[in-house]
Amino acid sequence: SALLIDGKAYAADLRNELTAQVAELAEEGCQPGLATVVAGDAYPAHAYERRVRRLAEQLGLHYVREALPADVPEAEAVATVGKLCSDPRISGILILRPLPPQVSEATLYRALDPLKDIESVHPVNAGLLALDRPRFVPSTPASVFHLLDRYLRESGRDPERVYQGSNMVIVGRSANVGKPAVNLGMARGATVLSCDVHSYRAGLLFEHTAHADIVIIAAGSPGLLRGEHVRDGVIAVDVGINAVPDTETGKIRLVGDLDFRSVAERAEAITPVPGGVGPITDVWLLRNTIAAARLARGVATARPWIEGMRLQPAD
Ligand code: NAD
Repeated sequence: SALLIDGKAYAADLRNELTAQVAELAEEGCQPGLATVVAGDAYPAHAYERRVRRLAEQLGLHYVREALPADVPEAEAVATVGKLCSDPRISGILILRPLPPQVSEATLYRALDPLKDIESVHPVNAGLLALDRPRFVPSTPASVFHLLDRYLRESGRDPERVYQGSNMVIVGRSANVGKPAVNLGMARGATVLSCDVHSYRAGLLFEHTAHADIVIIAAGSPGLLRGEHVRDGVIAVDVGINAVPDTETGKIRLVGDLDFRSVAERAEAITPVPGGVGPITDVWLLRNTIAAARLARGVATARPWIEGMRLQPAD
């Protein structure tokens, strides 16, 4: 059965690198700052906010949390983002989803200063990423590729060669996960196929996943992909985080988009939920925040957050 990829261990290593970077910046009198914007009281947004706040505080970053009421007028949300953009203590801004219906995601993303847009959701940064010259690699897809790169290297293979010879199927095409993952997969030379809920409804999804050498799933649908939908020896990366009640205890537990047991029986390697992509994502967000602080100081030399992805940085 499959090898389990330990995202927690990878995240711990990344975190150690960050501690050193923060110390280095502190010597120059610079403290990176992260701001989060949450609107309304959706559980996933608040759970994520708490995790990144804890991590930011542990690493010694300046942290600001803007919590807006669920009925906040759009103009006020835009003004909040504007205020953070002009605050010199803030290096990076994270807008948490879901937003209430009166606040348009696109409008709020456009209000970001691209130099503080650590998730690359501003059209300029999303465009740079699509052109393989990213300023920031968004944390979730960055984590997926970091995890794959490291796993492949540790198992004695050159990631580049593996990608170039791979059918990579990416399930889900949201602006913050699936689509940027498609861009990264293409940039690394994989033959990429993007599927979404329409592929599923058309009955095509599992035909495609059955041919994947690497499958990345970010659909938000618990247990969607099962062992019979993948080929033997697939490498399966599960981005999904879904809260479901346990059938026996009734307690809420987190599961991914893979039916873990049946996929693990056939896969070469698989990421667990929790403990796979998630912990790396949290650290990567802070990594981008520190990168933004360095960028703001004109430190354009070492850009490991891009070089690790083997991409050309934005000018
Ligand atoms: P989203 O709802 O914005 O997008 C979901 C995408 O999946 C859409 O493109 C949709 O068409 C597609 N989809 C939905 N049902 C499908 C189906 N049955 N078959 C094929 N495609 C389907 O979600 P998102 O923000 O991209 O997040 C996806 C999942 O990843 C969620 O479970 C979320 O909690 C999780 N997530 C995890 C991390 C992490 O760090 N691990 C980060 C962000 C999101």
